[in-house]
Amino acid sequence: MPGTHSLLSPSSAHRWLLCTAAPHYESQFPSTTSKFAAEGTLAHSFCELNVRKAFCGMSTRKFNSEIKKLQADPLYNPDMLTSAAFYIEYLTTKANTYSSTPYISPEERVDLSEWIPGGFGTCDCIMIGNDVLHITDYKNGVGEVVSAVDNPQMRLYALGALKKYELIYGDTIKHVSMAIVQPRVTEDVSEDSMTTADLLAWGETVKPIAKEASDGPGAFNPGAKQCRFCRGREVCAARAASMLDLEKYMTRQPEGRLTQEQAAEALITGSGIISDAEVGNILKRGEQLVTWYNDLKSYALQALLDGRAIPGYKVVEGVSRRQWGDIDKVVDALHAAGYEDAAIYNRELKTLTGIEKLLGKKQFNEILSTLVVKPAGKPTLAEESDKREALNPAVNDFADLAETLNAKTSND
Ligand code: SF4
Repeated sequence: MPGTHSLLSPSSAHRWLLCTAAPHYESQFPSTTSKFAAEGTLAHSFCELNVRKAFCGMSTRKFNSEIKKLQADPLYNPDMLTSAAFYIEYLTTKANTYSSTPYISPEERVDLSEWIPGGFGTCDCIMIGNDVLHITDYKNGVGEVVSAVDNPQMRLYALGALKKYELIYGDTIKHVSMAIVQPRVTEDVSEDSMTTADLLAWGETVKPIAKEASDGPGAFNPGAKQCRFCRGREVCAARAASMLDLEKYMTRQPEGRLTQEQAAEALITGSGIISDAEVGNILKRGEQLVTWYNDLKSYALQALLDGRAIPGYKVVEGVSRRQWGDIDKVVDALHAAGYEDAAIYNRELKTLTGIEKLLGKKQFNEILSTLVVKPAGKPTLAEESDKREALNPAVNDFADLAETLNAKTSND
């Protein structure tokens, strides 16, 4: 029986699979539980109850009484019911893709110790039918959209679910699919799938890495993905070293004004200038530098607030803007002074998203779809991994814009 705590959790697998030093390193920093995490737990409870009602035979009476208990929680808000309804809608659609009613079970704890020492996890929903195992994870966060594609957390859950049900289903499950439902940020459900054989083969590659990360001390390997939410990211020396590793450019700085011949030579040899390939690398590094810098700023602010000294810095009151106190009293005062509503209020149409929420997608499309325009966006630099298709400058006429930008730069 797995314990209640494991150094390596599936949700941090994206970190320890890349930086095996992270679990032991992080353990020296206290883990904080936020209000958002508590809200997430409550939202999951609504989802679980809805699954039990929709697929597992929970009576309406029991369901209503359990829902009431959850609604008494001070963190409850009605959006939780809307999100749970979306989750159930997705699961219902998924269940209908099976030729016969699939087995469905919510909140299943799965043992992962075959892959991760002492590891375990909880699958929000397991669905099994035909020769397919489908697992769904509900995410309540709004920070960023989480993709199910190549997601190690989802794969680990799927391995655990396979293991748990192999006694019943043997090796009849030939395919595994994984989904992440994150209704508070997107109506698109992210899905990924693979054969069971491929998943098991992936699991074998995880074992030695998980052992190294669990045994410790592991190897530090800084990178955007793994450092982003690491508990010790602000003060990790390995990350700092990788951020400050720009000295190699020092030996290549131009010595002064170059003659035309020297400039041409520099272009060919690369001395004194950075190449386009290097520009790409530095841009990537720059993004990480900004993140690192912001992490350091928050760390320094907290340290100063805690009474510690950060040389060269102090805490001051930030800039604040004037704002209305009691709005009703402001309006009364303006009315009393003879100003009418037309003069003191701006009349503004709700945003497109607000109207869509008001009408619902169906009615919105019926009456407004032809009135919505989507102008082409300006060319924007994006990483190669970005899902959007690359623009072809030969096909898209951005020459004018490039000229405008150049003219602006030379005028600045
Ligand atoms: S900050 Fe980055 S390099 Fe340092 S331990 Fe965490 S994940 Fe590893």
